Amino acid sequence: MIRLVLKPGRDASVRRRHPWLFSGAIAEARGDGFDGVAEVIDARGEVLGRGSYSPDSQIVVRLWTFGERPIDFSLFQSRFAQSRALRERVVPPATTGYRLVNSEGDLCPGVLIDRYGDVAVVELTTGGTESWEPGLVAAAQEVFSPGRLLVRRSGSVHDRGQPPLPPGDSSFEALAKKEGRGEGSEGSALADLNPIPFLENGLTFFADVARGQKTGFFLDQRQNRTRLRAFSAGKTVLNLFSYSGAFSVAALAGGASRAVDLDSSESALALARRHREANGFAVNESDFVRADAFEELRRRVEAGEIWDVVISDPPAFAKKRSDVERAARGYKDINRLAMKLVARDGLLLTCSCSGLVDASLFQKIVFSAGLEAGRSFSLIARQGAAEDHPVSLDCPEGEYLKGLWLKRVDS
Ligand code: SAH
Repeated sequence: MIRLVLKPGRDASVRRRHPWLFSGAIAEARGDGFDGVAEVIDARGEVLGRGSYSPDSQIVVRLWTFGERPIDFSLFQSRFAQSRALRERVVPPATTGYRLVNSEGDLCPGVLIDRYGDVAVVELTTGGTESWEPGLVAAAQEVFSPGRLLVRRSGSVHDRGQPPLPPGDSSFEALAKKEGRGEGSEGSALADLNPIPFLENGLTFFADVARGQKTGFFLDQRQNRTRLRAFSAGKTVLNLFSYSGAFSVAALAGGASRAVDLDSSESALALARRHREANGFAVNESDFVRADAFEELRRRVEAGEIWDVVISDPPAFAKKRSDVERAARGYKDINRLAMKLVARDGLLLTCSCSGLVDASLFQKIVFSAGLEAGRSFSLIARQGAAEDHPVSLDCPEGEYLKGLWLKRVDS
């Protein structure tokens, strides 16, 4: 364990239970941090809390406890049990893909766990939680009892402020079943599993845990898929930044007459085709467009295309603070173009998953896109991530996904 003594006056955020401690607040370090545990002490010697230690990150500690409670196996067990209890109440029927543990929102900073059917995918997003892997994995196995458990380590990469792991380059480890049944090498264990099937509201999806983004699927958009399904009967749907086309499958399940997926990634579109097949929908090549969304939209706007429903769910355009201005321009461009494609009385679902672009800024950007497009829209719903993605009030930074459901109105 390492003991970190704060500079005088730098204890306020910790006393407000904010879990992030920045390196600039630290006056002095004592001991080593080999076990990944840091104890945070104020300038007068009072122990304020303990957390995971990530020496390479600007956020050098993520606090798991406040006060004297130690970091041990029973803490992992009780935190995971609390997470499980929430999911037992909020996950809809016929749904076996959902988030089991959402980092700060479940008081487990640096740990994401997603369930896909029988498989739990643990993502350790900080160097500190990477060094707790054995304990976290054992507790996850005990509390969630998955058939299989995979670990994805993205922590050291995050800590150095680098972008998320590129597809195909994740450091993955497939762990044996609890009973210790033999597994092949890491690679073949993953290959056997991937992509992993699961259900969401009775629809079949696959998580591409080996090459995919996040832990393989965008579970955080479940509520928006549910809403889209309810709005889709007889409608045409254009799904921008489709990834594996989950929005389109939800729309078709709701009776959409056509849904088109547009993404720059061929492997994402390959999985999109597979999603339609698995749910009994026809696979027409013209419904899968591999293109840059900005260029393709300009072309379609010029051609005068009209869609009943347009969805825009781009990747995070702002990964650091200095990106925000450029990101704002990107969001404005994509929304202006998307708005021009929306039919009278049609709908636009526009999303941003950049935490650095907050809800009010995003709404302003979308407003100015509407002005430039010469179109009026009314906000009919706001929808971010579902209840299995809780956000701690102590750490509002955990809220990243914003979705605005807009209806075109005549003005
Ligand atoms: N809406 C998806 C998640 C989108 S993730 C879902 O609900 O599952 C963002 C997607 O945008 C990724 O699949 C990525 O390949 C794609 N992408 C990134 N930049 C792009 C661009 N310029 N044009 C088209 N697609 C892009």
